[in-house]
Amino acid sequence: MTNLNLAASHDAFARAKQLMPGGVNSPARAFGAVGGEPVFIASAKGAQLFDIDGNAYLDYVGSWGPMILGHAYPPVVDAVRSAAVGGTSFGAPTVGENELASLIIECVPSVERVRLVNSGTEATMSALRLARGFTGRPLVVKFAGNYHGHVDSLLVAAGSAAATLGAPNSPGVTPRAAADTLVLPYNDPAALVAVFAEHGPQIAAVIFEPVCGNMGVVVPTKEFRDALATQTKQHGALLICDEVMTGFRLSLGGAQQLLGITPDLTTLGKIVGGGLPVGAYGGRSDVMAHVLPEGKVFQAGTLSGNPLATAAGATTLRTLRDEPPYARLDALGEQLQTGLDQAATAVGLPHHVARVGSMVTLFFVDEEVTSWDVAARCDTALFAKYFWAMLRRGVYLPCSQYEALFISAAHTESDIQRTIDAARESLAEVAGG
Ligand SMILES: *Cc1c(COP(=O)(O)O)cnc(C)c1O
Repeated sequence: MTNLNLAASHDAFARAKQLMPGGVNSPARAFGAVGGEPVFIASAKGAQLFDIDGNAYLDYVGSWGPMILGHAYPPVVDAVRSAAVGGTSFGAPTVGENELASLIIECVPSVERVRLVNSGTEATMSALRLARGFTGRPLVVKFAGNYHGHVDSLLVAAGSAAATLGAPNSPGVTPRAAADTLVLPYNDPAALVAVFAEHGPQIAAVIFEPVCGNMGVVVPTKEFRDALATQTKQHGALLICDEVMTGFRLSLGGAQQLLGITPDLTTLGKIVGGGLPVGAYGGRSDVMAHVLPEGKVFQAGTLSGNPLATAAGATTLRTLRDEPPYARLDALGEQLQTGLDQAATAVGLPHHVARVGSMVTLFFVDEEVTSWDVAARCDTALFAKYFWAMLRRGVYLPCSQYEALFISAAHTESDIQRTIDAARESLAEVAGG
């Protein structure tokens, strides 16, 4: 197989390591889970990435989720360009904020009012503060393998880069910050009932990924979803649906619309900014009334709702609403899922292909992944070989077993077929070696 020339990326990474810890501004980018050095990207268009050595890749990372319309989608580029000409930030209200907020409220059924922030982490951090302020209770329940950003109290048994690094508890997170977080296994209704029986009056909120993407794709069972709804309601705790990844991805109304979940609060990020830094949290109007200045729960942001971010976000959401890509994304997802499954079966590799819509994970484990305990049994060394075999064939996958790949509206059936062909060769190569 052709070897990639990555000389320019190698030099850039050497320089980057002198300048930034690990050479990156977010750990997953460093390729630590698959070994070797990251590829430096020069530009992107549609479903393709171009690196600084001149290699082209079919992209299944999509900036880790936001780029559902494909890279440099012309209406988004135009909207950002014309916003920039008018000034990039005022620190004062704009109608652009009204536009993005009203689109979020229109699309996501449980969101009655919303606050815009700058990242998914800010959204989950703020939603937890609001839940605690609203209920007057200290404890939060989360699930092992679910990632909610790098909020101190949520960096406990977190998925994503934290799972990959095998360091769920970060140095710098104090035992006291972690002590107010109760961690349960995903898809375990009995454990949820037990924790509410013991700590019910102290629990402010349960936060969860409504389809998990941060330990690879894991789907919540009906029993688990029902227990989340009934236990929180019965004990007066808020249910927080972390849709930073799934919002506007699995349907216009996110996973909650797809699965019939009605949370009290929802956190959003990634797609909501159309590739610019935006997060949001919203939900019940009476709960949102507790946010400053209407209420007393403090939360602020110098650049929140800035004109570039709202232009990119609103243009993206409007496109998704007016020309919904979801049926087509689901068909492409099914094509890829079937193709990957057949390719892995053909070479006798233990595997399970999990998928919801345009989120797909090929797990190297011989059973369905329902929780972090099962995910942790995956053959991550095999995944690393598969990742590099695919990259050499021009397919850019997320660089960890514990991530979802994303299909965008810019991908075509023939892109998917090309990916399946590359997977067939790559899996034969790694099964043989
Ligand atoms: C990505 C992600 C976050 C964190 O968002 P950032 O914008 O990276 O801070 C939170 N929750 C979920 C479910 C995510 O996938």
